[in-house]
Amino acid sequence: MSDVRNVIIIGGGPAGYTAALYSARANLQPLVIEGFNWGGQLMITSDVENYPGYADGVMGPAMMQDFRRQAERFGAEFLTDDVTRVDFSERPFRVYVSNDEFLADSIIVSTGASARQLGLDSELRLQGRGVSYCATCDASFFRDKVVAVIGGGDSALEEATFISRFASKVYLVHRREEFRASPIMVDRARADEKIEFVLNKTVEEVLGDPKVTGMRLRDTVTGETSDIETDGFFVAIGHDPNTALFLDQLDHEADTGYLVTKGKSTETNIPGVFAAGDVQDHTYRQAVTAAGSGCVAALDAERFLSAERHAALTTAGS
Ligand code: NAP
Repeated sequence: MSDVRNVIIIGGGPAGYTAALYSARANLQPLVIEGFNWGGQLMITSDVENYPGYADGVMGPAMMQDFRRQAERFGAEFLTDDVTRVDFSERPFRVYVSNDEFLADSIIVSTGASARQLGLDSELRLQGRGVSYCATCDASFFRDKVVAVIGGGDSALEEATFISRFASKVYLVHRREEFRASPIMVDRARADEKIEFVLNKTVEEVLGDPKVTGMRLRDTVTGETSDIETDGFFVAIGHDPNTALFLDQLDHEADTGYLVTKGKSTETNIPGVFAAGDVQDHTYRQAVTAAGSGCVAALDAERFLSAERHAALTTAGS
């Protein structure tokens, strides 16, 4: 039988590392199974200018190194691998990495969400070099520049409108003529003189080396291709929570897969299992809100464990 940990944190992004920092400082000696690609969405972000405390901005990967190092300083342990299976049906909870089994009295799930990608090689190559997945983070880098936003949902329309505060021109590229976005968002974007709708177009390639200079589009009706010059390329085609491992055990939204937590807490439907960060939040999705949520999860886990231990002592003493 392996040792039973106080807490295992699954996922190493802002939420997971903050949960690790707080639980390490509470003497819970957390194990963070951080994922092979640890760091989360910030690893594909260049400058981060909206995280409080970094007055001069910071590169996304450097910020995640800092988060990780801070948790390590207080004794958090890390396993840089992917969890392959979990069993929360009985205590202690079981977490598997291939054939290795880890046991814990509490779990914090902080596996985040992933921005959907178009799946183009050129998109991958130019990530952080003009290709972005976060308008809130990166719009201000495109002051007086030309930018494209891809997508036809609320995110794309909202991001196009937000970016037009900075950019000189915004192309809103959508593969159909109808929008998934709410009519009010579409009307707002249509009323914005800087936004030009480019409809019935798919993106064949993002152009540029070493940074974005344009995009090649294909018309879905005529099949013709055309190039448009642009400095920025924002992909806003939705996010998917990284919840596949948990769907059979934790309550989640049926249509989106995001985990459901209770009220202001990070409690899931299973006492002792908590969820923090983007894996349970599709509204705010910021590094700072995820970090705050990771802190809450560590406090929730600590209170859960001490209430349980207090109850065990009281029973033993009576
Ligand atoms: P979404 O509603 O799923 O829309 C995704 C859009 O991207 C769709 O228009 C889709 O096109 C397009 N798309 C998907 N894959 C694509 C691909 N491979 N190539 C080109 N286009 C692609 O996602 P979302 O806009 O992120 O919104 C998610 C949820 O958050 C929604 O419920 C939304 O209402 C909500 N939200 C609300 C607000 C707000 O109220 N302020 C803001 C943002 C998001 P098709 O339509 O052709 O499938």
